[in-house]
Amino acid sequence: MPAEDAPYLRGLNAPQREAVLTTEGPVLVLAGAGTGKTAALTARLAHLLFTRKAYPSEILSVTFTNKAAREMRERVGRLVGDAIEGMPWLGTFHAIGARMLRRHAELVGLQSNFTILDTDDQLRLLKQLILAADVDEKRWPARQLAGMIDGWKNKGLTPKEIDAGESEAYANGKGQALYAAYQDRLRTLNACDFGDLLLHMLVILKTDREILSQYQNRFRYIMVDEYQDTNSVQYLWLRLLAQERKNLCCVGDDDQSIYSWRGAQVENILKFEKDFPGAKVIRLEQNYRSTPHILAAASGVIANNGGRLGKTLWTEKDQGEKVKVLGIWDGPEEARRVGEEIEGLQRGGLSLDDTAILVRAQHQTREFEERFISIGLSYRIIGGFRFYERAEIRDALAYLRVVAQPSDDLAFERIVNVPKRGLGDKALAKVHQFARAEGLPLTTAGARILDTDELTPQARRSLGNLIGDIARWRSMGDTLPHPELARIILDESGYTAMWQADRTAEAAGRLENLNELVRAMEEYESLTAFLEHVSLVMDNEASADEPKVTIMTIHAAKGLEYDTVFLVGWEEGIFPSQRALDEGGLASLEEERRLAYVAITRARRRATILHAANRRIYGQWTSSLPSRFVAELPGEHIETETTMSGGESLWRANWSERADPFADVGRGTGRGPGWQRAAGVDAKNPGGSFTPRTFSREPARVLESHASAVSFGAKP
Ligand code: ATP
Ligand code: MG
Repeated sequence: MPAEDAPYLRGLNAPQREAVLTTEGPVLVLAGAGTGKTAALTARLAHLLFTRKAYPSEILSVTFTNKAAREMRERVGRLVGDAIEGMPWLGTFHAIGARMLRRHAELVGLQSNFTILDTDDQLRLLKQLILAADVDEKRWPARQLAGMIDGWKNKGLTPKEIDAGESEAYANGKGQALYAAYQDRLRTLNACDFGDLLLHMLVILKTDREILSQYQNRFRYIMVDEYQDTNSVQYLWLRLLAQERKNLCCVGDDDQSIYSWRGAQVENILKFEKDFPGAKVIRLEQNYRSTPHILAAASGVIANNGGRLGKTLWTEKDQGEKVKVLGIWDGPEEARRVGEEIEGLQRGGLSLDDTAILVRAQHQTREFEERFISIGLSYRIIGGFRFYERAEIRDALAYLRVVAQPSDDLAFERIVNVPKRGLGDKALAKVHQFARAEGLPLTTAGARILDTDELTPQARRSLGNLIGDIARWRSMGDTLPHPELARIILDESGYTAMWQADRTAEAAGRLENLNELVRAMEEYESLTAFLEHVSLVMDNEASADEPKVTIMTIHAAKGLEYDTVFLVGWEEGIFPSQRALDEGGLASLEEERRLAYVAITRARRRATILHAANRRIYGQWTSSLPSRFVAELPGEHIETETTMSGGESLWRANWSERADPFADVGRGTGRGPGWQRAAGVDAKNPGGSFTPRTFSREPARVLESHASAVSFGAKP
């Protein structure tokens, strides 16, 4: 029936066509990166519409991000014209869940205009409940409970369904009751959180046969991209909705499962064939994205993981350039070098829009942002904020501003009750009134009001402590180096502890950002100089339509592709992350390796991997080792270069060949002897525990002298 030359089939290979044309029955497309899974899914959607197998409103298509949904809508629009005017059920799980829940809200005790709470609201609510339950919030932070509740919701568990053991983990077994109370409270407020969007709908589908069958009939076809990263509640959803017609098509790649920390279960791929017997499994093997060198590099790394489903990948593309592996001296040089490379490529005609820098952790963006601002290279950050716009950085800066500048009222307001110190709106209103009446800045008014009886004893105590602290920090500034002062302020104010107590997935990243902030301060001679730098940087917004380099985490880059990709910070402790190393388990290390695979396979023509020999951590220069993933890159597909600008002669003179971590990295195959020597890995057990070799004392001296050269001389 479909003309072989239907626009959406043009150019697709045989297995891709099979995925498009096998519309009936369960289909699983299991294939490596860049093999056209998303392309096939898009064509399939076009095919269903073009051949009128279904109306747009009868197809459920799940994408991983809103951006991906937008792109798919546009692409299908181009392929089949206006037929897709409305594709109401194309979106992320959350968007689709919200849409469904609005129609049935009353079944879970909500009204259709319910609000969706953000994390802050969620926490405030939990705190009230914790207080009411007589639980010590200091000991059992609300954030911990929030994290647990999220976890339960990801698993599709209502309060009744939690087993006692899991509930034990919070306040001696009060977790379950608090979860139940929280759900009740949300209902009273006509609100739900993100997890509820899926959980409530799951409950409805499980308990209301009529509604279930309504949706089972409505969705003639169901399609899911990035299937390897679905979590339990999403999986349960899909299984219920697809049970009747069984026209479910999922595409994914087990090697790209990188969200287990958010409850994703790669096992869902294995369950598919069991839950949908007779499923057709289609494998795509031709990669259309990357050059052979890039592909071989990625394959070489991922081959070190065990328990893979296994896939073949090939490409017809020209060899192109080898993957470049650059060993550089330190973090600032990394940013400088990437900036230079990009400017070079730009002169050669490359658009900044085709270039991306992928980091392992958010805090790594800072060095690049500052460098790019100083050389006038436009950039965008995807899936996050610019460094100085992140909430925790703004909070920390507010503390610093109050200390540096007593009359900075905005900063004072931002931190006066962060972390919570029992200064309610009433107390603050009093301080404001007083300040206005007397024409004083808030901190001064706050100090004066302590002598009156305007405030409750509790508020007076809290405010008194804070104002006292600020004055004390200010006087410490006379003698202490400002980075150290910053650390003290963040610690003594309870701000660091607030994030340490946080059990949500983002908390660790926020702490890393705070560390990075202190690190950034070291480059400026005073607190004032640093704050001035920040306000200049913050003011530097590139215009919306000019081409920009993209900076983002590897997680955010999933499914995307760029002509040229820079993979930075490939060092032990950064990537694989210190957390993965500390946990020590094979599972976390393998997830890091899948991230490396995702990272490399984002590149179409050019991939450059960088690793620095030194990083500044807590004000100390520390030598770092190239990531084990660098050593896993197959030697014949990479080209290595080491620049030790500045400190090179010292480096050569003092660092024996034995200790040179770049000595033979990448030479030979996979886990070359160079890497084992440099990284102290057990040759018989390369995936096992990792004991970095500590370098002798001498290089440490070298590092110190270099460090001072950096802070006083070479800095821009
Ligand atoms: P990932 O695993 O990273 O999500 P994917 O398998 O979804 O990758 P796509 O993004 O669909 O891969 O495709 C990768 C690139 O290959 C895209 O630029 C796409 O346009 C192109 N492509 C896909 N199929 C073909 C084809 N049959 N012929 C030519 N190019 C194709
Ligand atoms: Mg894809």
